[in-house]
Amino acid sequence: MKITRIATAVLLISMLGFSCKEKNKESEIQPAADTPNVDTTLAGIGHEDFKTVVAGDSVSLYVLKNKNGLEATFTNYGQRLVSLMVPDKNGEFEDVVLGYSTLDEYQVGHGGYFGAVIGRYGNRIAKGQFELDGTTYTLAKNNGENHLHGGEKGFESVVWDVDSVAQNYIRFHRISPDMEEGYPGNLDVSVAYLLSDNNELKIDYYALTDKKTHVNLTHHSYFNLKGAGNGNIHDHILEINADQFNAVDEGLIPTGELMPVANTPFDYLTPKPINNDFGSDHPQFKIANGIDHNFILNDEPKNEDGLVFTARLVEPKSGRIMEVFTDEPGVQVYTGNFFDGSVVGKNGKTYDFRASICFETQHFPDSPNQKSFPSTVLEPGDEYRSTCVYRFGVE
Ligand code: BGC
Repeated sequence: MKITRIATAVLLISMLGFSCKEKNKESEIQPAADTPNVDTTLAGIGHEDFKTVVAGDSVSLYVLKNKNGLEATFTNYGQRLVSLMVPDKNGEFEDVVLGYSTLDEYQVGHGGYFGAVIGRYGNRIAKGQFELDGTTYTLAKNNGENHLHGGEKGFESVVWDVDSVAQNYIRFHRISPDMEEGYPGNLDVSVAYLLSDNNELKIDYYALTDKKTHVNLTHHSYFNLKGAGNGNIHDHILEINADQFNAVDEGLIPTGELMPVANTPFDYLTPKPINNDFGSDHPQFKIANGIDHNFILNDEPKNEDGLVFTARLVEPKSGRIMEVFTDEPGVQVYTGNFFDGSVVGKNGKTYDFRASICFETQHFPDSPNQKSFPSTVLEPGDEYRSTCVYRFGVE
């Protein structure tokens, strides 16, 4: 039994290496250059504040750069994107993702899910349970009576192996053991991040299982194009390519109704300031005290790689733009409605109410219990693949 497991794991790992490289074109990956011997990154993050051992595994900081000077800093604890430096229209760089200055802070609770990979199931599963082939699987109820973001210790709170790293590329790997957080199957997961010279942060997810299971991986950066901690995102201009969204109940579980955005505050088909309709008493808006909803993406338009245009965010003063693309059917848009100014993040800055916005590309919440939704089942022998691109620019 043990030998079979090890053999399976070895096979899975060798398949992984091939597959992820295949997606991120080899030509785009720049070989590691001599890293200047500096203590802090462009974003002011200190290497020493991330060098530690968690549950016997080494944790470090990894700095990715592209040829335009963009810098992305990762730690292998939860695959956190700790900082992301992007220029404005005058070439001034700011760190546009929320986060903490030290690894210790990421280890408290879920570390706010700041910049993390989310799994095994991103978003909510009603009443913390689902049924697969007649067996009921019980998960943690860590969000009221529901399950959120993989449970008590999801993918955001474990140490990942770094199995490949280059100047503008990093790939993390881990086997999530059978029944971890209640999910069946050894899940062999690989996630690659490429900081391309087109100023894109491209994330490729890949997984294989040895038992039928559910998988829904996503990325949980909180963006503010003025710079993390520089006020709220109300004045950012937002466009979302979705005619419909998943209506939710009080626990933010989809009711099953695909609600048209027309005549609701959720209509971002034409770009508008994020808070344009935030005075609305629409019941869906009231439930979340803002936007915390899964938008159902339209099929078109697509970018040159066949990924669907998901959203566009513009910060008018700096001119910074971010565009999101994916091959997932949905995106959870979350406007940081639970922030209240009590969180102190990087460089001592506090994060106010609606200090940021998340675009979590994914399948729909509670898919394991909602038969009409696109399936999140992964069968042995099948490959789980998902891609998300955050592209930066100025106007
Ligand atoms: C969810 C929010 C939740 C947040 C936690 C988001 O993905 O949609 O409801 O509060 O994650 O960080």
